Amino acid sequence: MELIFKKSKKDRRGTILPKCDVPPAQKINQKYLRTIESKLPNVSEPEVVRHFTNLAKLNFNVDENFYPLGSCTMKYNPKFLEKAATMKYFSDLHPLQPQIIKGGMLTQGALELIWNLENLLSEITGMDEFTTHPMAGAHGELTGVMLMAAYHKQKGNRRTHIIIPDSGHGTNPASAAIAGYEVKSVKTSAKGLLDIEELKKILNEETAGLMLTCPNTLGIFESQIKEISDLTHKAGGLMYYDGANLNAIMGKARPGDLGFDIVHLNLHKTFATPHGAGGPGSGPVGVKKYLTEFLPISRVVKRADGTFALDYDKPLSIGYISPFYGNYGVLIKAYTYILLMGKQGLIDASENAVINANYIKSKLKNYYDIPYPENCLHEFVISATKQAEKGVHAIDIAKALIDKGIHPPTVYFPLNVKEAIMIEPTETESKETLDEFINIMIELSLLAEKNPDIFKNFPKTTSVSRLDEVKAAKDMNLASLA
Ligand SMILES: *Cc1c(COP(=O)(O)O)cnc(C)c1O
Repeated sequence: MELIFKKSKKDRRGTILPKCDVPPAQKINQKYLRTIESKLPNVSEPEVVRHFTNLAKLNFNVDENFYPLGSCTMKYNPKFLEKAATMKYFSDLHPLQPQIIKGGMLTQGALELIWNLENLLSEITGMDEFTTHPMAGAHGELTGVMLMAAYHKQKGNRRTHIIIPDSGHGTNPASAAIAGYEVKSVKTSAKGLLDIEELKKILNEETAGLMLTCPNTLGIFESQIKEISDLTHKAGGLMYYDGANLNAIMGKARPGDLGFDIVHLNLHKTFATPHGAGGPGSGPVGVKKYLTEFLPISRVVKRADGTFALDYDKPLSIGYISPFYGNYGVLIKAYTYILLMGKQGLIDASENAVINANYIKSKLKNYYDIPYPENCLHEFVISATKQAEKGVHAIDIAKALIDKGIHPPTVYFPLNVKEAIMIEPTETESKETLDEFINIMIELSLLAEKNPDIFKNFPKTTSVSRLDEVKAAKDMNLASLA
């Protein structure tokens, strides 16, 4: 394959060509070339299969069992999507493949996919434009806060803090702080909603914006969004929507219609990429029109003749926030999933996620404290305070669930609930699975009454016995892992 170099900065259609898109065709320096053959391990197929099968078995996974990990949307993801993502037309593309090449344009389909996905995400969320570059939810937040900062800078505003309710996701304050903002926290009211009176006291001409997780980490929809966003906008701040929990409201409500200026989504939660163990993820960010100029480069543009190109000529852009175009494989899966589900399918997914959560919540209410008893969206928080009186804490219930073949829910989060157990069943579970989980949770609450001491021995079924977490954190013994 021969690369073509353009001296001019514009291609023949007038689109600016990025410098990094066309790597110089240098020969690799001799000194970097191998002179002796590399010693690759020589193993048979069964050895390879056993190695990877055994590695896979070390992880609890959603293919094996129920995984109600709150705030994580561990839904089952159709295997078909992996097939789409590994199609050679995509997976064989090099990210530096030039936009123009002698004899054809090899990247048109790949660019069109980004373009189409950005448009679909805009439609789903009610935003004007999206970038697919951020590689995780928290990375999307950081990008969003940087967009906020660029907006205020251009306006000549001096804005120093970002407001975040204490029911927001933990990454929100971290992202705001990394972007250089002071974080001001607003308390949650007894109803599990942001306390508007508190908010009014904090909002002022130094407020850069407000980050709202919705539904919040209690699984509750912030019903006062309109008022919150009016107040924030009046103070000159921007509204940021943490949309990692979009699985609860897809096709039902659009952040763009609710007054939000910036939104990030977690494709690796809502749009069917399995996640955990740190990736790969994707946290695309959508914005309203007045923020589009600040979006990271590159941008996929559609030319008048219907072809696609990458545009790097964006003087107001915040610049690069990731190499290339994001985690492309995750984008393919999200795009395929959206097409596979269709509009009604996405609505059904949200409805079933919400019904499943409310079903479990209603069945557990006589056995566990439920600090926010009203109907939830896709997840909810119960509290093990009753059990803790007997000495059985949230962590003990989590460990007992491992022995029952169920991944423990998120525990001790959100921070504003004591002995929190946060449960998110997702839409892909059957009633039988939910009933089995409910019965186990009830059984454990009865066991906590009768025989609390036994919980200290759980889990019993794992290859190592219960971890001393304090020791593990304080006294890391890397040699033992070797
Ligand atoms: C998961 C999650 C995030 C962070 O996403 P990562 O991809 O793990 O960085 C942010 N906000 C909410 C509400 C989440 O559930």
